[in-house]
Amino acid sequence: MDEFLEAAIEEAKKGLSEGGIPIGSVITYKGKIIGRGHNKRIQNGSVVLHGEMDAFENAGRQPANVYKACTLYTTLSPCSMCSGAILLYGIPKVVIGENKTFLGDEALLKSRGVTVEVVSNKVCIDLMESFISKNPELWNEDIGE
Ligand SMILES: [Zn+2]
Repeated sequence: MDEFLEAAIEEAKKGLSEGGIPIGSVITYKGKIIGRGHNKRIQNGSVVLHGEMDAFENAGRQPANVYKACTLYTTLSPCSMCSGAILLYGIPKVVIGENKTFLGDEALLKSRGVTVEVVSNKVCIDLMESFISKNPELWNEDIGE
């Protein structure tokens, strides 16, 4: 498996071990991870720290030319908020662990020229299916339902 998707999965598992939603993300630039994070909505009582947003936050402020050469890896299809951040900063490529348990705004990303790769990784699917079946109300809150 791709080492960067593997790192995003490690983040998702870290989130799960903290009692959170198992979604992780890493942002890479020139073959190195510059930011990594996981969903901290439950842990921090945060309404914005999805895995992707946490990875952006932890990457710190970056110049536009860096964002435009980054790849974002996420274990789950990015929601509207995270897709918005990806578009805002001009991230050109997104690798998605799975979109079976939740289909985010992939169509919007593609329509704006972002390369979207869905790898349908079994570990990513299992993490979410297991979490959703045990915590349906927490998950619905995460996606605004
Ligand atoms: Zn999101």
